[in-house]
Amino acid sequence: MEKTFGACRWVYNQGLELRRNGWEQYRVSVGYAETCRALTGWRRAEETSWLTEVSSTVLQQSLRHLDAAFQGFFKGARKYPKRKRKHLAKDSATYVRAGMGFRWGEDADRPGTGLLTLAKQTEPLSVRWSRPLPPGVVPVKLTITRDRAGRYFVSVLVEEVIEPLPKLITDGRCSVCRADGGNKGLSVRAWTCAECGTLHDRDANAAVNLREEGLRLYRLVVEALPAGPTPPPLIRARDLPR
Ligand SMILES: [Zn+2]
Repeated sequence: MEKTFGACRWVYNQGLELRRNGWEQYRVSVGYAETCRALTGWRRAEETSWLTEVSSTVLQQSLRHLDAAFQGFFKGARKYPKRKRKHLAKDSATYVRAGMGFRWGEDADRPGTGLLTLAKQTEPLSVRWSRPLPPGVVPVKLTITRDRAGRYFVSVLVEEVIEPLPKLITDGRCSVCRADGGNKGLSVRAWTCAECGTLHDRDANAAVNLREEGLRLYRLVVEALPAGPTPPPLIRARDLPR
């Protein structure tokens, strides 16, 4: 876990730096999608290739937490996000089952408990369950934290709102030539566009498409607004008329 915690902390801090520098130096708002693309780059770069020893979905979750910290700050509910410092910040790593972050096998003799095996590990975690999960329920997300006394905790989330639809639309479209490459399942991590030959990282490509889709929706809304009022700084997809 040491390596995973360290990588999560590193990615969080790098993401924070990217977002802060983007804004302070260039007045560019760097969001979650851009930090994910940066993560893909860090994993490919030779000097930070050690990041590939940790599951990429776990590192993406770290960037999600960073994004949540920023959202809280933008709403005025939280202070500006701070760097996570070793031994000072609580260590944490979040695993998502859909991203093959962990495997789950329910114990038939003790329903609601079972074996959790994390990505890149062969042995299941030794968990002392404080209370069983509702029987038959499969965890979708789990977060492992370590407090400053070195004690480990696992918190399990059993339900999650399904990701919004755009992901499905966007992950098969080539972000370079816009040819539709068909829907990519979760198992297809990289694919080559049959039209223009670009080799895509599935998530990075989807992130570009999502961002463009967001901008397109935003423009639609702005164009539909009556003349005069300043366009709002943020429009949520779910607020748009269907
Ligand atoms: Zn293409």
